[in-house]
Amino acid sequence: METSEDIRTTPRGFYCKLCSIHTPNRPSLEAHLKGKKHQHLCRLRSKRDAQVESSIYVSGIKPTTSRTELAEYFEQFGPVSEIIMDKDKGLYSIIEFSEVKSTQAVLTQLEHRLQGLKLRVKPREKKEFKLASKPPDAKKSHINLEKLNYDLCQTASVNEQMQKVVETLQLSESDQNSRELLAELLEEVFTEFLPDCQIIPFGSSVNTFGVQSCDLDLVLDLENTKAFQSQAKKSEKKGEHNSEDGDSEDSILPEIDLNTATPAELLDLVTAVLRKCVPGVYKVQPQKTTRLPLVRFIHRDLNLQGDITINNRLAVRNTRFLQLCSGLDSRVRPLVYTVRFWAKQKHLAGNPFGGGPLLNNYALTLLVLFYLQNVDPPILPTVEKLKSMACEEEECVIDGWDCTFPSQPISVPPSKNTDDLCTLLHGFFSFYSKFDFSGSVVSLREGRSLPIASFLSRDEEMPDTADSSSSKHKKAAGPKLGPVNILDPFNLHHNVAGNLSERTHRHLLRECSESEKYCRSLQYQRKSAKGKSWGLVRLFAPRVEGGAGSQGGTERSLKISVPFQASVLPESLNKKLSSSGDAFRLIWFEQLCSAVEALFKDILKCTPAEEPVSTQEQNKTGGGEEEVNNNDSLEGSSKQAASKPGKKRPLPAEESSSSSSSKGKRRRLDSSANLPEKACWFWAQRHKVWAGRRKVRRDLLKTSDEASKPEGGCRSIESRVTQCIVEKEEDPKDLVEFKVDAEVLGGGENTKAVLKFTPTNDLAGYFQDFFHFLESFLPKMVETLLSKPE
Ligand code: ATP
Ligand code: MG
Repeated sequence: METSEDIRTTPRGFYCKLCSIHTPNRPSLEAHLKGKKHQHLCRLRSKRDAQVESSIYVSGIKPTTSRTELAEYFEQFGPVSEIIMDKDKGLYSIIEFSEVKSTQAVLTQLEHRLQGLKLRVKPREKKEFKLASKPPDAKKSHINLEKLNYDLCQTASVNEQMQKVVETLQLSESDQNSRELLAELLEEVFTEFLPDCQIIPFGSSVNTFGVQSCDLDLVLDLENTKAFQSQAKKSEKKGEHNSEDGDSEDSILPEIDLNTATPAELLDLVTAVLRKCVPGVYKVQPQKTTRLPLVRFIHRDLNLQGDITINNRLAVRNTRFLQLCSGLDSRVRPLVYTVRFWAKQKHLAGNPFGGGPLLNNYALTLLVLFYLQNVDPPILPTVEKLKSMACEEEECVIDGWDCTFPSQPISVPPSKNTDDLCTLLHGFFSFYSKFDFSGSVVSLREGRSLPIASFLSRDEEMPDTADSSSSKHKKAAGPKLGPVNILDPFNLHHNVAGNLSERTHRHLLRECSESEKYCRSLQYQRKSAKGKSWGLVRLFAPRVEGGAGSQGGTERSLKISVPFQASVLPESLNKKLSSSGDAFRLIWFEQLCSAVEALFKDILKCTPAEEPVSTQEQNKTGGGEEEVNNNDSLEGSSKQAASKPGKKRPLPAEESSSSSSSKGKRRRLDSSANLPEKACWFWAQRHKVWAGRRKVRRDLLKTSDEASKPEGGCRSIESRVTQCIVEKEEDPKDLVEFKVDAEVLGGGENTKAVLKFTPTNDLAGYFQDFFHFLESFLPKMVETLLSKPE
């Protein structure tokens, strides 16, 4: 039976929470409540509730205890219908009885013992009946990786870390509301021109996997407008005219026949309406050459990028499918968020402008869902199975493709898999590191991978699930096969990863394999007692190209920024800065560079390194990021830098196109005319100065007169700590060589220095660890050095 809690009154009528359906008035609500769908979901819910009530949760069992042994013990309380085991860890089990009274009998007995162990027994937790609905609120500002890493390190387990990732990245409720409002506003505007049209959000804004700042994907659905137009034309022929029907002077309907209009004409129409009639919208750009033509725009106040495609019903439907999967099991969301973020960090996903050689988030999400169909026991059913669980009203065919699946998770029995998130994430990497992407096709419909050869021959014979009108079109166009083949769950002739390059394919396998290896380590599984980064933090470390294991590619560097803070500077320097006008930033930067140099040279005992030939070449040809400095009046040049390794190489601001202060500005500043906005060094680190550093410091402080100082808080202590580590190391060799590029950015209170690290030689793969250490050590140490310059 439905409960009154299922129904909510809204300004527009009623809302049934069980079925996620709006009804405009009481008679339609009553009709809905008597309808097949609502009744079906009510029955299913009662069944699930009964199952939960007749189950108990048992912990304290031996990992070796079998299902049969549990059944034998618990059958003394009544017939057992199901036993769900936590198979990997053997820590708990759920026993489902045929009758509720057996549960009561178990719970009233004070003590339970099995194989000499005392069992803990409690009622099975009644999980809140969840629909595939919006994610909960999280009022978070924009994503700050350093903060995320810090927060992740504070949690107790990888499972908690994954939940934290969701909490941090997900769309906040206010962000969701503003997206909904924008969609409503657009629908209102478009309806003036195209009566009865609909603007439907799809993609990550509504699929429950959205992150802050993700784009807003919208479909303009013109099906009803077409019907309206046909009707209007018929009436016109008959000589009837009804201006209230929307066929007014303002209407653009008479000018364009929606039944025969080309996609380009429709795009022009959408572009015109967006440009002329929607407030706050700018940068409206039609994209006519993409697979699905669309119009891009930006909403100024919401700072939101939006896309409108036309009549793209398949995308709306596959978004509903992702929503459903998300609601089927509480592990889906954390896993998808974690994998999406991992892929972003590894530069595997996220084509910045839609097309491109990387995976898009939709394809990546399908990979996670496919993996969850393939774990044992499966966490998600195949799309075929889902289809069989749908009721008549949920049948759906779009463009000839069968898109039937239940609308609510309650229609699908819960999974018996009890793996935790930490295990599942490891399993994901393991599954795909061995996956034969180029020799097979990922089919979520069947929940298995199909060898390409048999897929192709079968495709010829494949019975048409399409209606007759589109079957011809289907035969003509097969999926575009490539290095990675992920079949769309509904449009079976579409490879959602058809754009992927061979290079991205290799990169995907390599990253999965490296992550899989890492997941086997204790650093992944256990929180570091020494406060080091662990679990997801290391997994999310950005990919270092040019480092160990990397095979060339565009260089991406790792950055640490040091904000300008007047409060930590000595008074004399502050006075000088405040009397220098805008030039203060260059003077401060000069001081900061001296501090950075002292940090590497004196405190961390780095030695100067030769500039690698590759970067010298880049500088000569002007292909590097920095221009060659040919200005003799300035200290150092690229030539001098190459011959004076480890030395700061200032780069004049005039040659920096990215510089935030203009040339004009600087000309006025006599005191800073010769100060650079950029500098770079090449260093070699021969010792693991980061390893065991805290312990060395602790030991040192015990015997030191100096008061206890935080890490990076005292120049002499840190130098001595490094010295101790260096002396203990028996066989030093050049561990890592790296380049540091420094640049001053921003202005006023927002002035900051950004230090970019690029490994130039990291054969042993230590750079990542060194960089992690620097992330926390460098800002604090530089602050100390700036506050007390020698
Ligand atoms: P984000 O915007 O955060 O990158 P998203 O889930 O919105 O993630 P998009 O790439 O914007 O992903 O795609 C939006 C929607 O468009 C998807 O949810 C899917 O419905 C549809 N879509 C995207 N790419 C494809 C594709 N290759 N084939 C079929 N549908 C796709
Ligand atoms: Mg999107």
